[in-house]
Amino acid sequence: MIVVAIDGPAGAGKSTIAKALAKKLNLRYLDTGAMYRAVTFAALNRNLDLSAESAIAEIASQCVMHIDDDSIFIDGVDATQAIRGQEVTRAVSVVATNSLVRTELRGRQRQWVSEHGGGVVEGRDIGSVVFPDATLKVYLTASPMVRAKRRVAQSGGDVELIAAEIAERDQRDSSRSDSPLMKTSDSVTVDTSDIPVDEVVDHIERLVVAQQHTKQASN
Ligand code: C5P
Repeated sequence: MIVVAIDGPAGAGKSTIAKALAKKLNLRYLDTGAMYRAVTFAALNRNLDLSAESAIAEIASQCVMHIDDDSIFIDGVDATQAIRGQEVTRAVSVVATNSLVRTELRGRQRQWVSEHGGGVVEGRDIGSVVFPDATLKVYLTASPMVRAKRRVAQSGGDVELIAAEIAERDQRDSSRSDSPLMKTSDSVTVDTSDIPVDEVVDHIERLVVAQQHTKQASN
């Protein structure tokens, strides 16, 4: 089973690259950030305080979540657009510090991969915690200004403000105690600041193939 873990900070190009890579490798793609966003969306809809840890964890454990490449539904509600909005984006990294939520979503992510026979999985803790034995672990990054400009190109807004919001979210994601965003020693770092998407995808594809050959040779 092939599992490619793609981790990195906000705006590093994870979604674009993971989707294109999945297509090339004929694998399915899973956006784990969308899962954290969907739980946050449901919590905000219920007017829950973000510190209501067990109530939010209950959403993560009880909800029916349907996720595919282009949409996400939580308890029958289409959350595809709303999870990209400002309200969810500002709250999600707080919800992501909730260990009960993390445990639940990790379980769902592992189940998804086993049901789909592998996949390209993007997030923050995929190579470090969710799939420590992944076929290949990639840590994608880009300079803070490039990342902010990409977000502005996608969703508009003021570049300085977006840069500050991204920095705050990255700081929260990297400093939480449960499965923080980090580079593992066995991951390959790819800086996407100045490299076109198709080149990054080709490069990672070659690494996956090489990794498979190495694993086959050692079996
Ligand atoms: O990838 P995206 O920016 O949509 O992720 C939204 C948030 O979800 C991240 O800032 C982080 O707080 C959380 N997240 C996480 N672990 C993951 C994926 C996302 O904590 N594996």
